[in-house]
Amino acid sequence: MLNTVNTELLHRRFKVMGKSSPLFYERPLQLVRGEGVWLFDPEGNRYLDVYNNVPHVGHCHPKVVAALHQQASTLNIHTRYLHNNIVEYMERLTASFGEDLSMAMLTCTGSEANELALRMARFCTGHQGIIVTDFAYHGNTEAVAELGTGFMPEAKLTKRVKSFAIPDSYRGVSGVDEADLADRYVAQVQQAIDEFEAEGIKVAGMLVCPDFANEGLLTVPKGFLERATALVRKAGGVLIADEVQAGFGRSGKHMWAHQWYDLTPDIVTLGKPMGNCHPLAGVVARGDMIEAFSQQAMYFNTFGGTPVSCAVGMAVLDVLAEERLMENAVSTGAYVSAGLRKLQQTYSLIGDVRDLGMFFAVELVQDLTTKQPAIAEARRIINLMRERGVLISTIGVYDSILKLRPPMPFQPEHADILLSTLDEVLYLVSQETSA
Ligand code: PMP
Repeated sequence: MLNTVNTELLHRRFKVMGKSSPLFYERPLQLVRGEGVWLFDPEGNRYLDVYNNVPHVGHCHPKVVAALHQQASTLNIHTRYLHNNIVEYMERLTASFGEDLSMAMLTCTGSEANELALRMARFCTGHQGIIVTDFAYHGNTEAVAELGTGFMPEAKLTKRVKSFAIPDSYRGVSGVDEADLADRYVAQVQQAIDEFEAEGIKVAGMLVCPDFANEGLLTVPKGFLERATALVRKAGGVLIADEVQAGFGRSGKHMWAHQWYDLTPDIVTLGKPMGNCHPLAGVVARGDMIEAFSQQAMYFNTFGGTPVSCAVGMAVLDVLAEERLMENAVSTGAYVSAGLRKLQQTYSLIGDVRDLGMFFAVELVQDLTTKQPAIAEARRIINLMRERGVLISTIGVYDSILKLRPPMPFQPEHADILLSTLDEVLYLVSQETSA
C-alpha cells in the first residue's frame, strides 16, 4: 500500500522525540485504527498485522474494551485495598501454572517484572550472579539492561552478570557435531558458574526466555535447558523464565512456553499480551519465595494490577478460552509453517523455518552452506511487505530473521494473504540479488 507519508507529523515527531526514537519502515506508517488482525491508516488502507503480539486476542477486542470501560467507570484504585478483581485475577492466573508456582505480584511492564524477579532471586538465594544468553533482551531498566549486552550497545556486562553463547541448533558451533551441541552449550553454562565462583560471586539464577524469541526463536538442542537448570540449581541459583513474549498460549499447545520442557521454573515473568495492550505485567513464583520476599523486602507498584487492569486481564483470559485461540494457534500455526516450508523449497534465501504455535521465524541466508546472514535482503523484504499491506519485522543477532507473530485470531485466510505476498516479495528480492 503506497500510502502518503504524513511528513508534517513526521517532522513534528522528529522535533519532539528525536530522529533516533525507533520507528518502523523506510516509509513510516501512520495508524489510526485497529480491529482483529487488521490495522488501518488515515486513508482507510488496511494492513494485515503479522507482527504484534501485544494485541493478543485481537486489536481493540470488544469484550476487553467493555471490561476496561465498565471497571474504569466504577472504581480504579491501587492494590492496598481489598478488591474482588485483584484476588480473582491472581487466582485465575496462578491456576494456569503448576502447583509449585502458586503466588503472584503484578506490575505494569515486562521490564519491571524482570527487575522484580532479579530482586526476588537475589534476595531469596542471598547470591548475586545472574546468567543469561549473550543475545538477550529482558527490558529497559538499569538492572535489566545489564543482562542485554548483545542487544543494547551502551549496556555493559557487570561483575554480577555472565552470558553464554545462544544455544542455536541451526548455526551450531564450528567444529562441534550436532549430537554434541547440547553438551557444548551446557558446558558454557558450567563455565559461567565456575567463573563466578572463581571471582567469589555465588549464582542467584539463570534468566532465559523459554522460546529464545529475541535470539531468533531458536531451536534449542534437546535437554539443554533442563541440564543447564540443574547446574544452576546445584550452584544455589534459581531458574527465572521470561514469558513476557512467550506466554499466554502463544506457543499453542501450552499456556506457558516453559511447559514444553521437563522442568518447572522458580520464577516466571509475564507481560506484553497479558492486558491486550493495557499495561499489565507481573511475576508468578514459588509461594515460599514470594512469602519470604514480601515479608522483608518492600514492593509496591502504584499502577500495577489495579481493579481495571485485573478486569482487563480476566477478559483476555476469557476471550482466549471462549474463542479457542490456543487451538487456533496449533491449527493455523501448522498451516502457516507448512506454507513457509513450501516457500523454503522455492527460495534458497530461506535457510531455516522455525515455529512455535502462532510464532514463526524465517532465517534468511545468502548461501545455504555458509549460512551468511542475508541482512539487507531481510530489511528489503519487510519494507516491500509493508508496501503490499502486510506488517512483519526482523529478529536475531544479525536482524536477518523474519519475525512473524500475529495476534492470536489469525486465520488460514489471513495466512494465505501473508504467504502469497511473501512469495511475491521473495521472488522480487531473489531476482534483485541474482541480477
Ligand atoms: N522480556 C522480553 C522477552 C521482551 O521481549 C520484552 C519486550 N520486548 C521485555 C521483557 C520487556 O517488556 P516491556 O517492554 O513491557 O518492559
